[in-house]
Order: sequence, then C-alpha cells, then structure tokens
Amino acid sequence: MERKQFELWDVVQMKKPHPCGTNEMEIIRMGMDIRIKCVGCQHSVLIPRSKFEKNLKKVLRNTKRQDEVAGDPTNS
Ligand SMILES: [Zn+2]
Repeated sequence: MERKQFELWDVVQMKKPHPCGTNEMEIIRMGMDIRIKCVGCQHSVLIPRSKFEKNLKKVLRNTKRQDEVAGDPTNS
C-alpha cells in the first residue's frame, strides 16, 4: 500500500460515502485527530488519523490553492 499524502484544506474522497450521499470531505483541522467536513451537508466529524488514513480513498484537488490554476494556458 502506498502512503497517501494529504494536507489541510485538501478535499478527499472516502471509501464510504456520507449518509447524505456526498463522498467528498474537506480537511478542516489537522492534528492527532483530523476534522473533516462533508462538502455536501457541511457536517463535520473528528476522527483519529489512523482511521482517516484507512478510510481515505483518494485525495482530490485542493480547492483553496489557486496558484496552480493561475498558470493555465487555456485561459487566454
Ligand atoms: Zn454529508
């Protein structure tokens, strides 16, 4: 298993979707425990890092990091 990398404000996809039907969570707090917020219903949960890593399916784009988009040549 490769180790997944994630950081604060990353939007991640979990293995199990949230009861509201959304499968995207935003990392809003990092520490020994990680607080993630459901993108769909804004519900936030605090889970241990180990459990988070186990349930993490993949890391999606970081929506708050705009500098990568700035150099996009298609926007001319
Ligand atoms: Zn939800």
